[in-house]
Amino acid sequence: MKRIDSKQALNIWESDWTSLRSQSHEARCEHYPDGQASYVVMRIVSYTNVCVADCSYCAFYRRPNDDGAYVLSKEDIFSKIDGLLAVGGSVVAMEGGFNPKLKIEHYEDLFASVRKRYGDKIEIYGSTIVEVIFIAKSSRISLEEALIRLKEAGLRWIPGGGAEILTDAWRAKLSPKKYSVKDYIEGMRVAQKLGLGTTATMVIGFGETVADRIEHLEHIRRLQDETGGFASFLLWTYQPLNTPMGGSLTSNDDYLRSVALSRLYLDNIPVIRASFLTQYDKGPEALTAGAHDFDIPLEDQVTQLAGAKIEENVDRVLEWVKKSGITPQKRLPFSLK
Ligand code: SF4
Repeated sequence: MKRIDSKQALNIWESDWTSLRSQSHEARCEHYPDGQASYVVMRIVSYTNVCVADCSYCAFYRRPNDDGAYVLSKEDIFSKIDGLLAVGGSVVAMEGGFNPKLKIEHYEDLFASVRKRYGDKIEIYGSTIVEVIFIAKSSRISLEEALIRLKEAGLRWIPGGGAEILTDAWRAKLSPKKYSVKDYIEGMRVAQKLGLGTTATMVIGFGETVADRIEHLEHIRRLQDETGGFASFLLWTYQPLNTPMGGSLTSNDDYLRSVALSRLYLDNIPVIRASFLTQYDKGPEALTAGAHDFDIPLEDQVTQLAGAKIEENVDRVLEWVKKSGITPQKRLPFSLK
């Protein structure tokens, strides 16, 4: 398929849905067989809810001395991972807030302990790059040193969370303390050059324009041209319940159209994933609109507290997929190049 530019992407967005869907499905089938989709069972463990980033779309965090502020013990984390392994899970994402009390040593100990206890039975998707930038600053070390130390402790993957919408205007509205687009992209570049695996993400539904979404995709595509470091791209929808920003949930049609556009625009990213975390039983629809991979999440406090509904019964989720005419194929966690 020939590469599209931002102007063509806007035109495609405005074309009729049948045509957009069939183009993106065709592009998706170049990466994975028609009628099949791959998946992993995973859990997002929020190891702390203490955060000083103050994102306007977040219903999860507590300020350091608030009631209900917590840092999970290693035993609590192990028990969550044991629960994940018991249902055939293979990926644990460990994400929290910008907790000023936790320094680099805390994370080294956490990742090393998980790696020591579970070896390769579980893959760790560790702190997002914005969290690592924060950890580095609060530990008074460089980002590079922080990433090297976390890698030596057993971390192999930096997930794409924290990107939201990669335009500086939207970052200023959503999370002014969560670093600029340049910081985000440069942070990912450093992680990729150090040999850490990374994934890319985008969150839609804040009120951004399609041009804003395309600008975001362009940042990702450009870095991918340079490094080839993103294993996948996942798009999900802003969940507005209980958040300071409020607003309403964007439609599943908007979600599907955005997945389709992402498949066409990100011609250099092999895997586009569907978000069952935010789209619930409509998740399978994205598997014929450009995506060919999905997670079955058991838990994600951040989106659940903002209104996301999670189906913890893995078989039920697989039934949704089969009913949509797709055969789910369990895969291993992505491996490093
Ligand atoms: S989204 Fe993450 S970084 Fe932002 S306030 Fe919530 S916990 Fe903090």
